[in-house]
Amino acid sequence: MAIEALPSGYEPADVESRWIDYWREHKTFTPDPDGPGDPYCIVIPPPNVTGALHMGHALNITLQDILCRYHRQLGRKVLWIPGTDHAGIATQNVVERALAAEGRSREDLGREKFIERVWEWREQYGGRILNQIRRLGASVDWSRERFTMDEGLSRAVREVFVRLYEEGLIYRGDYIINWCPRCRTALADLEVEYAPRASKIYHIRYPVEGSDRFVVVATTRPETMLGDTAVAVHPEDERYADLVGGSVVLPLVGRVIPVIADAYVEREFGTGCLKVTPAHDMNDFELGKRHGLACISVMDGAGVINGEAPEKYRGLDRLACREAVLADLKSQGLLEAVKDYEHNVGECYRCKTVIEPFVSKQWFVRTGPLAEVARKAVEDGRTNIYPEQWTRTYYDWLDNIRDWCVSRQIWWGHRIPAWTCQDCGELIVARRDPESCPKCAGSRLVRDPDVLDTWFSSALWPFSTLGWPDDTPELRTFYPTSVLVTGFDILFFWVARMMMMGLHFRDDVPFREVYIHALVRDGEGKKMSKSTGNVIDPLVMVDRYGTDALRFTLTAFAAMGRDIKLSEERIQGYRHFVNKLWNAARFSLMNLGEDVSGMDLAVAAEAGPAHAWILSRLEAVKEAVAGALDGYRFNEATQELYGFLWHEFCDWYLEMVKVDMSSGDETRIAAARRTLWTVLSELLTLLHPVMPFVTQEIWSRLPGVDQPDLARMPYPPARPDLRREEASETMDLVRQVVVGVRNIRAELNISPGLKLSALVRTPSEAEAGRLAACGELIRFLARLEGFEAGTGVTAPRASAAAAAGGSALFVPLAGAVDFASEMARLAKEEAKVVKELDVVEKKLHNESFISRAPADVVEKEREKARAGHEKLDRLRELTRRIRGLMES
Ligand SMILES: [Zn+2]
Ligand SMILES: [Zn+2]
Repeated sequence: MAIEALPSGYEPADVESRWIDYWREHKTFTPDPDGPGDPYCIVIPPPNVTGALHMGHALNITLQDILCRYHRQLGRKVLWIPGTDHAGIATQNVVERALAAEGRSREDLGREKFIERVWEWREQYGGRILNQIRRLGASVDWSRERFTMDEGLSRAVREVFVRLYEEGLIYRGDYIINWCPRCRTALADLEVEYAPRASKIYHIRYPVEGSDRFVVVATTRPETMLGDTAVAVHPEDERYADLVGGSVVLPLVGRVIPVIADAYVEREFGTGCLKVTPAHDMNDFELGKRHGLACISVMDGAGVINGEAPEKYRGLDRLACREAVLADLKSQGLLEAVKDYEHNVGECYRCKTVIEPFVSKQWFVRTGPLAEVARKAVEDGRTNIYPEQWTRTYYDWLDNIRDWCVSRQIWWGHRIPAWTCQDCGELIVARRDPESCPKCAGSRLVRDPDVLDTWFSSALWPFSTLGWPDDTPELRTFYPTSVLVTGFDILFFWVARMMMMGLHFRDDVPFREVYIHALVRDGEGKKMSKSTGNVIDPLVMVDRYGTDALRFTLTAFAAMGRDIKLSEERIQGYRHFVNKLWNAARFSLMNLGEDVSGMDLAVAAEAGPAHAWILSRLEAVKEAVAGALDGYRFNEATQELYGFLWHEFCDWYLEMVKVDMSSGDETRIAAARRTLWTVLSELLTLLHPVMPFVTQEIWSRLPGVDQPDLARMPYPPARPDLRREEASETMDLVRQVVVGVRNIRAELNISPGLKLSALVRTPSEAEAGRLAACGELIRFLARLEGFEAGTGVTAPRASAAAAAGGSALFVPLAGAVDFASEMARLAKEEAKVVKELDVVEKKLHNESFISRAPADVVEKEREKARAGHEKLDRLRELTRRIRGLMES
């Protein structure tokens, strides 16, 4: 096969789509559960089926892909499962909006037709986010794609619900929940967002029964007083000690309610006297339970006052009711004070409506026993969290966990498998839809209309995607999964719940490790948001710079525990790195013969100091990259690869190897080719997990390759015998000498083409010998005619000097540089600059120019003056140096 030259530029778009298809056709990422190798498994955090790829996903996918590709290289059988989440409320909203555009509502369609409509939407648009993930090069197994509502996962959800119910870990009960009156659904604690709002606090007088005294309570929500069932004070508050055990008369309602004592009351807050509304406040609900108080709901699910309130308020919206209550209190002289008050108010995370604590019948998971087990698994180290600081947060959350309200009042989702018998009231929870009541044999069964919280199904993701409740080869091989890679924002929503469910149903942790990555922010460190207009779209970046450039950038900044500051310039910068690799490969391919196996590598390493050095460095890089990836230090891996490719391989080795290539000596050429091929092919393998496309494209043109699919190549083997510390030291010295000569040329303005000589005085004979052995290289790289190294070298007349490590470098200039004419040239140039500068300075000293000319024109002149002075300084310094050389 003839070696096909690489095109002069790398064109990502064409290359990427070609390899995406290739990998799919060749089933590169579809492992056999019974095949050889240790299992390595990751389940993708399933993106919402309504989602569009953002930079956070791009980072998340890139890091998982690096891990999967790297572990494949280590010989593991790797399974990375893709899929999407049905995203209950989000998806329902999208379809409802589409219906609204047609002038219809979900109620118009009815439940069944509406759900059909959602499935149609999913068929049409549900693959979008996965197609976007595909473009990132994700090495997921597409043949095992899952959806949280697919048949298998639905079965898993039902099995889990029924088992937990049978075990008493799921119950139905009255509970105060966060409720969004607009969305008309319960919200989990985590779905409530708190935002500061300016509001008012009202001081209201409650008459003490049988007395003309009042107690004064403070509230921000006066309408809830209609549901008050007690007034509470602190047990040690002397102001109210005589009232405890007595009663007050609830204004506007006339209900006589008790005064109770509870240490929960803060004496310093307001008047120290608290109105208690168990049906409309979370804390009051608990307080009410402790004291056996009645729980009176005065609002319905839409926030409208109901029949439990006095007639005149019924039918009013909660805010209209507030006004009416305040007006009535005022006219009765019971509104003592109104004060401005700013406090944090809970809002619905989706629609920002102020939430209303609400008592209703809901389904709950009893989390206490599950949380305890989940905590222990991390304490024992059965699951490790990286960075470790998140472990604390995980414990705190589990320690303060409340029962998990899992019912949602929407239509799209896993419907709760519970029925109520209309004849005898029996509650039936069953794996299969019941036809009759097991208690009375009646057939009038009504199914619970609610669906499960979306997080209920995603909590099962690590085992439901592997086939549970069936005993599949995938489940046996790949559970527990290896690592979960996720952002910290869903540590509780998702990670802790997967821990609870995995441990309960599989008796083992769902993943051995959790890697929590940072946020992607803009270049200034600000959060990306549509309203700020600083969002960087990953797909636009992929179109502009190629996927590999984006992936490398994200990885290069993915330091553990630190947010990523991303800008387009940075991605553009790494696009240059992709080009650098491409050009290095292009040069290499032009210099490699077809047969690259001609010489043993150990022999090649002995054939020249440059080969020994680069091969030794390659060994060090292999070790460092593996160590970094093993410890999730992604940025360190890319730093190693970047520095090695750019500053060692390209800047130096590819230059050095030209000497061999042009030597005409077959043995030398064979050694150079063998080394060049080894470094390039292993470098491609090392870079592949981060930049899969460009590396694969180059790989496909590389001679001497048996495995065309780079993703199937093993991690380059360690060759400890090629580690040569002294080769690295020698090459460091060589590079310092070359850089020293180059600097002297630059400083003294000596043309790069002018042949010079150099002498180096070394501290030891050994070093002199090693340098002298590199004489040919040094002469070539520094464009020298002569080179000499020794311990007895003295500074020749008229020579420029520089330090090179512990050695001294001298470049004799007598004869090479015509000092007299150089001095004349400098003098002429200096005179010219002085004259120009004079004109500029006159202008700048001219008052009328300064005051009349536009600011930018004046600034331009100032800039000219600054540049002129700098140039003058440089010329004078050069003159001084040359005069010094002439006199030495
Ligand atoms: Zn809402
Ligand atoms: Zn019945």
